[in-house]
Amino acid sequence: MTELAQLLKDFEPVIGLEVHVQLATKSKAFSASGIEFGASPNSLTDPTVLGLPGSLPVFNKAALELALKLGVATGSQIRAKSRFARKHYFYPDQPKNYQITQFDEPLCENGHLDLIVGGAVKRVKLQRIHLEEDAGKNTHVGAFSHVDLNRAGVPLCEVVSAPELTSSEEAAEFMRALHRLVRWLEISEADMEKGHLRCDANVSVRLRGEDRLGTRTELKNINSFRFVQNAIDHEIARQLRLIDSGGRVERETRLWDADLGQSAPMRSKEEANDYRYFPDPDLPVMVVEGALMGNILRSLPELPVARFERYQKIHNVTADDARTLISDRALAEYFDAALEAHPKDGSGRTIANWMLTELLGALNKAGITIAQSPMPPQRLISLVKLVEEGTISGKIGKEIFEESYRTGEDPAAIVERRGVQQISDEAMLWAVVEKVVSASPKQTTDYQGGKDSLFGYFVGQVMKETQGRANPVMTTDLLRKRLGR
Ligand code: ADP
Ligand code: MG
Repeated sequence: MTELAQLLKDFEPVIGLEVHVQLATKSKAFSASGIEFGASPNSLTDPTVLGLPGSLPVFNKAALELALKLGVATGSQIRAKSRFARKHYFYPDQPKNYQITQFDEPLCENGHLDLIVGGAVKRVKLQRIHLEEDAGKNTHVGAFSHVDLNRAGVPLCEVVSAPELTSSEEAAEFMRALHRLVRWLEISEADMEKGHLRCDANVSVRLRGEDRLGTRTELKNINSFRFVQNAIDHEIARQLRLIDSGGRVERETRLWDADLGQSAPMRSKEEANDYRYFPDPDLPVMVVEGALMGNILRSLPELPVARFERYQKIHNVTADDARTLISDRALAEYFDAALEAHPKDGSGRTIANWMLTELLGALNKAGITIAQSPMPPQRLISLVKLVEEGTISGKIGKEIFEESYRTGEDPAAIVERRGVQQISDEAMLWAVVEKVVSASPKQTTDYQGGKDSLFGYFVGQVMKETQGRANPVMTTDLLRKRLGR
């Protein structure tokens, strides 16, 4: 059989994702029942959720606000009047026998999601974002099947990408970018373990250079970043091998089994008309009022990828660090507050360094988040300045950080009390250099004879003499002068 790598030279994978995001409302999309993960089965239902005769859905406006935030943040066109539709299918987790969703008049269209791929930004088109309700959950235990309707009626946004992702890594990155964005906007808790983000992956392959898309399969219900990547890799390989051995990809829905690491056909794809979509007569047209849009627009924060670019372009931060800084909004806010306390050109890189190594290191060790940091940004900046101005060395700075983090004491006060100011007095340093060199005649001869690696030995001796307080730049200069090379 031809190797996969060889096949990938000729064929290009094409992936489109449909991601369901659970919206962080207090109550359900069309009724007043609460939402709580892990509540006892069927304790969060009501006549509407149960589809009892005579019950009527009433749309929860809070869900609209959250969906609008996502629409605006993805640059989508927002439909001023959109409509709910019924999508019919029979399944025990859905007592009404239809799901309320949006069909031909979705709330948002033609937006985009920015991903960070290999340090650069890739913009992926979104075909649509629409509102819908979740179904319940079936659990099969031996000969029995249990139906829990607590999740039925929970509001979701379905985010549908254009078929523009070209590898499993990009697909996983799409999920990460969406996860980051919805948390940033506080639209969803986006807890993967609770199934707050679930993805269907559409996968096809085509000859490179071909315009038309190949026949796709759809992988259902993938609920982790890693599974997205594994499931898609597996499916790309399956399709390529099938084509290579003279077969054809069938349009079908497949179910990914994360435990087995493989997928199996679930059903041949149903067509839209199998669902008999029609506008839900129980629900009025959903109107987005200008005032609401105004509020949403005004409250929109600077988005993660915009900050990723700003940190690099304006504040001189590396792509890797910028990416870490935007991984969590509280981290980015901390960084911005620190920048504000120290608005010096190019200080961003140094601040990022202190934050990502010392501060995050300490927080991780204590198992707390940046929001709980005992070291506010202003205090970190006091320390950064002491190092920048040469009052203390970077090495001593780390010790001061540790103490200030632990005790809350001001860095300058600790430096004063411990007397660890850096020695930058030339005469004083020259005396130390003189002493160190005279005490090491053998090393001096060897160094002067060409053994360059001994230079570090002399620096070390000077640091030892000064308890690490010697200004390192001056130390290097003076040693070179004294040793003659
Ligand atoms: P449905 O799944 O309901 O049939 P669509 O036809 O609108 O919905 O497509 C849903 C998803 O499938 C989108 O994310 C789209 O990008 C993706 N998609 C469509 N055609 C292909 C293809 N040939 N290869 C890969 N993805 C595709
Ligand atoms: Mg689909």
